[in-house]
Amino acid sequence: MKILKNISKIIFPNFKCLNCGKESFDTFCPACKRLLPINNKIKIKNNNLIFSPFFYDGIIKKLILDFKYNNKKYLFSPLAKIMADYFKLQKIDINFITFIPMHDKKLKQRGYNQAEILASEIGLNLNIPVLDCLKKDIPTPSQTELSYLERRENIKNSILPKSVNIQNSNILLIDDVYTTGATTEEASKVLYKMGASKVVVLTLACTKSDEALN
Ligand SMILES: [Zn+2]
Repeated sequence: MKILKNISKIIFPNFKCLNCGKESFDTFCPACKRLLPINNKIKIKNNNLIFSPFFYDGIIKKLILDFKYNNKKYLFSPLAKIMADYFKLQKIDINFITFIPMHDKKLKQRGYNQAEILASEIGLNLNIPVLDCLKKDIPTPSQTELSYLERRENIKNSILPKSVNIQNSNILLIDDVYTTGATTEEASKVLYKMGASKVVVLTLACTKSDEALN
């Protein structure tokens, strides 16, 4: 009986739902899957395409906060796989993947840059090289509660290029959440200055409306 149980475990490994922890053959169990805040739209801003499989809400918001602030790094792999699977469907040619940088001071506090972790894992899933292209030179205060224009001013010139060659390349820029777009816009601007031909943005989630853009 025990042997049979062990064999069945090999054939049907014990996956757990990322949200509720119940046994599940998929990242989310059927009940939690129904609650996912799916986003069916692609944002276009300043000629930039922004892809996000989810809205920043409910289960996904909780997981992102756990991933970012509660040191639950094990969440990055399944979340990155969802992002990679979703991006594959868009059929866009990408040469390199890069990520929103984090200032050294913040990196020391948190211990990891969640955007970098997601990017590395997405790179493995899509079989596309990940390049460390950008650095955050000026630590910007927390962006929450700020309007788009305040954020834009805050982030201006705080992202600098690293000496890597991305001339004539299509770049996929990764971040965890897209809110006003101030950060990804600034990073895209730098990537274009470095010679990129196209920059598209992929985040796990985005805010529901563009209200914050005003
Ligand atoms: Zn569940």
